[in-house]
Amino acid sequence: MRAVALAGGVGGARLAHGLQRVLAPGELVVVVNVADDLERHGLVVSPDQDTVLYTLAGLADRERGWGLAGETWSALDQLGRLGEETWFAIGDRDLALHVVRTARLRAGARPTEVALELAARLGVPSRILPVTDDTIRTRVRTPDGWLDFQDYFVRLRCEPEVLEVTVDGAARARPTPEVLASLATAERIVVCPSNPVVSIGPIMAVPGMPAAVRAARDRGVPVVAVSPIVAGRALRGPADRMLVSLGGQASVVEVARRYVDLADILVIDEADAGLAGQVAATGIRPLVAPTVMTDDAARAELARAVLAAA
Ligand code: GDP
Ligand code: CA
Repeated sequence: MRAVALAGGVGGARLAHGLQRVLAPGELVVVVNVADDLERHGLVVSPDQDTVLYTLAGLADRERGWGLAGETWSALDQLGRLGEETWFAIGDRDLALHVVRTARLRAGARPTEVALELAARLGVPSRILPVTDDTIRTRVRTPDGWLDFQDYFVRLRCEPEVLEVTVDGAARARPTPEVLASLATAERIVVCPSNPVVSIGPIMAVPGMPAAVRAARDRGVPVVAVSPIVAGRALRGPADRMLVSLGGQASVVEVARRYVDLADILVIDEADAGLAGQVAATGIRPLVAPTVMTDDAARAELARAVLAAA
């Protein structure tokens, strides 16, 4: 079954990993958010893509939620000694990925080509596709003004309240031909339990993405989303606080409201079974299942439930 998953970082990577385990090699395409990307020390870093890449390659640090397992930090120490800002931590082995990516991009390769090459070199049996080859950047408005996303997310550890979110460059961006071709032949579209505002939001803010997903639905392809909010909380990161500071609630009902035009089905956790009626009232069909991916088996089990839905 050909499946396309829309993913941010940690929540996206976990379900993508489950999907990769239950699908045949080559059947999974993961379309990743690139609005979190940044340059550090002259290198191009793509945090959501890299979390998905390392997770699908079996190399991710499972506790931290980003970067490589068994990482060391000598280069970062030395960068600090050289007077560089080191709030965005890049491990020694992780650094190699950014060096290779940056070199390939400077030589003229498209971001999509580089993403495909990197995944192939790390033995990943799925395709990881940036949603766009254009530059898009999430910015957030806080009580102290507008911030670049990683300033908010990493340097300020998500502490400021987010009052508004924008995706710079989105209006001029286009989905890649590879993304459009995958959606055109998909048999399932999965919206991973990623942050609806700053992971799935920027993917769908690329003009042409809503229409491409709509065209698939019109062909009868079910779009199944998984809620990143469980029992009123995000399992990690600021999604719950963001939904509230943007004027909504931290609940699966709010996720359903945000996804009514995108998805047919919303998978909600057993802890939220009592809200299934309110989810249904938004116009999206609820499906109750265990959604907390504590280990590989739980990832695969949720992936199976998602693919069997509809
Ligand atoms: P980021 O880009 O690294 O912030 O990651 P994502 O946007 O992909 O994912 C962040 C969201 O993943 C958070 O809102 C978490 O609640 C959610 N998440 C992480 N692990 C799980 C899980 O096991 N199950 C569910 N349902 N959500 C999860
Ligand atoms: Ca992210």
